[in-house]
Amino acid sequence: MVDIQLTYNCNNNCISCILPEIVYNQYRVDTLTIKAEMRKNNSDIVCISGGEPTAHPEFLDLFEYAFKHNKESEIKVLTNGRTLSDFSFVKKIKEVVERYSNRFIFEVPFYGPEKNHDRITRAKNSFKQTFKGVKNLEKVGLPYKIRVIVEKKNHEKIPELAERIREELNPYKITFIAARYTGKGYKNFDKVGVKYEESVKNVEKAVDMLRDKKDLVELFHYPLCILDKEYRKFGRQGVTKQQGGITFLEKCEKCSIKKDCSGIWESYLEKFGGEEFEPF
Ligand code: SF4
Repeated sequence: MVDIQLTYNCNNNCISCILPEIVYNQYRVDTLTIKAEMRKNNSDIVCISGGEPTAHPEFLDLFEYAFKHNKESEIKVLTNGRTLSDFSFVKKIKEVVERYSNRFIFEVPFYGPEKNHDRITRAKNSFKQTFKGVKNLEKVGLPYKIRVIVEKKNHEKIPELAERIREELNPYKITFIAARYTGKGYKNFDKVGVKYEESVKNVEKAVDMLRDKKDLVELFHYPLCILDKEYRKFGRQGVTKQQGGITFLEKCEKCSIKKDCSGIWESYLEKFGGEEFEPF
């Protein structure tokens, strides 16, 4: 997978964003460089991200360029989904997607129900806009995956969010992701950091809430030894394992299920240590 960041600007201001303040709010408008990056790879997945990629003034042009020059690749867009609340914008995206035969997916974060989400994004009405955005995707038949980043401010609300997803949305996948403490997440660690032993029961409860959608559930960055046995089958290694920031402890070497385990965020171990993890 290749990750192409179109811009560092964003209309959210998430307290746990993995980007540091230093790059935040800097536009990246050098479209020639972006297009060169899009042309030079032969990757299975071209991931268009940011900041918020749709905040780039030439997003639609760059989006189509990715399809045109990567005919064999899956095109993935990581967006906070707020701009998708504009139905005319979604229709334009649909027109591009229909011109090509690539596999395609949006990945959209939900942090919690309504105000809980807005408290983390620090952007008023962001939940409402993101919710409307994914409903617009459903209207035109574009697939999306929901990403739920689990942290201190939302873990108790995750089951409530899961219920809402079960009742009202039809995503392609629902991925719960243990927060990584880099960028603003590192700076704001006191506000966002939570131990697995404190949050994991709420994540397992959320999986239960999803009942008839359980086959859509994935757990990213949940080391298998912190999950109850019946939830280990949802654990995934994810693409981040190849991209760095993940490690194992010395005691993991004797663990019989290490090859299926996601490993542990290095940033997590720096803050909380590794006492919770026990080899099988
Ligand atoms: S002991 Fe290490 S390898 Fe085994 S499940 Fe836990 S984190 Fe993964």
